[in-house]
Formats: sequence, C-alpha cells, structure tokens
Amino acid sequence: MSVSEASIATFRDIHARFNAAISRFDCGKWCAPLNDGEPVCCSTKQAIPIVQRNEYKVLRQRTDMWHKFKPFDAASREVATDLHASCLAIECRGARHCERENRTLACRAFPFFPYFPRQGNFVGLAFYWTFADRCWVMSHLEVVKRDFVAEFCQAYELLFADDADERQAFREQSAAMRRVYTRWKKPIPVIGREGGYLSVVPGTGELRAAKVSEFERHGPYVSAEAYREAVAAHQAAAAEEMTIELVLDP
Ligand code: SF4
Ligand code: SF4
Repeated sequence: MSVSEASIATFRDIHARFNAAISRFDCGKWCAPLNDGEPVCCSTKQAIPIVQRNEYKVLRQRTDMWHKFKPFDAASREVATDLHASCLAIECRGARHCERENRTLACRAFPFFPYFPRQGNFVGLAFYWTFADRCWVMSHLEVVKRDFVAEFCQAYELLFADDADERQAFREQSAAMRRVYTRWKKPIPVIGREGGYLSVVPGTGELRAAKVSEFERHGPYVSAEAYREAVAAHQAAAAEEMTIELVLDP
C-alpha cells in the first residue's frame, strides 16, 4: 500500500476518465447467488475497500454513500488498522444503493490490478487470485471489454505518474503472484494492455502469447452444472440456517 499519496486533482481525473463497464454482462448476477444475494466485491464480509485519504476526500465532496469502515471481528479490525497513515478502510451503503460515478478506483478496477513483469512497465491486467473461487469474471476473462482495459491502463498511468509508491506496490503484488503460481506450477493469466492475452510461465516469469480458452476456470464456475449445484447447495444451507434461527428465536 502506498506510503506517499496521489493528489485530489489526480483522483478527480481518474474518476472522470475511468467509467467503462467491465463487460456487457452484469457479472454480479453470477456471483451474488453464492454470496447471500450480494455481489462479492460489494460486501465488506468479503473485501474491505482501502483508499488513499485524498480519494476519500474527493468522494465525500460528491456523495454521502461512503463512510469509514467499522470492523466487525478480529480479522476486519486487523485489515482496518494495519494501514499506512495515508490510507483508510471505507464502506459504501451496498450494491442496491451504488452510484456508479462515485465508485472508488478499486471498485472500478476490481478484480484486476496492473501486472508488472520482472523488468519493465505494466503489461496488462492480472486478477486478485484469492477471489478466484468467488468472482465469476476471473473464470471468464473473454467477457472483459477492450474499452475497460484501455481506461484501466490510463487510470493507473495517471496514478503512477503522481504516486511512484503505487507503482512499486503493484510490482510487489505481481512478484507475490508469481511466487504463488510458481508454487502451484500454474501460468498466470494476463489480459494484454495492447490487445490479446498473455500467460506468465511459472518459475521463469517469462511472458507468452496465450489464448483465452487456455485459462483455467475456478470453483463453482468450472461448468454450468457445477454452478447450478453450488447455487442449490448454497440455497439449501441458507434455508437450513433460517430454520435454526426460527427454532432458537421463535
Ligand atoms: S467483479 Fe467478480 S466479484 Fe465483482 S460483481 Fe463481478 S463477478 Fe462478482
Ligand atoms: S460503490 Fe458500488 S461497486 Fe463499489 S463496493 Fe459499493 S456497491 Fe460495490
């Protein structure tokens, strides 16, 4: 996470230029049925938005949909407190009240971050792999639109021009992903910023051209049948929980 901070003007510029939808589908319709009806990336039980304080100032000038995050358990307390002084954990009013123009950069970019190879500038978009079992998009990179990719790259170039620590943070994030995928002996899928797809060879970190059909699918998104089964199992578990609650609290 950044030690320095991008300016208010930079965040205004980023928000003005990065508005493209990730795909022509409403991807939340796929992940929400497995997350009690809420899109995974819009639920602080799953992901707590972290912003620079200047981005929070910009958002608070425009809307009241954001507030400081209140931790609800030990893990969320650790996330909210283990931050540099320039950063803040925040929470919105939820997906039903989302104002698209007032989303954070992190909301606009999710589930992707700028991928840096060992040498050179960022070459494309890699995903936050710890969400791969919950985020439908990560199993369907073919749906990601090119205008989203272009605006994503432009937004992060604006951020890096103003805050070199952010560039370094994503270099480190990319290196961490290489270590994990090398351990798994799996290639990292990357959406190329200049078009097409790339894969990062485990071990060497070499970049190769790839076809999107080569990329792995994950968890309940490996097939239509697996997805139907996962939704049915989730609904059955939710119904059982509700019955227990009714019995305990008649
Ligand atoms: S980006 Fe992923 S987690 Fe967020 S709504 Fe779309 S499918 Fe769900
Ligand atoms: S602002 Fe919108 S996209 Fe961002 S977390 Fe809230 S509901 Fe999700």
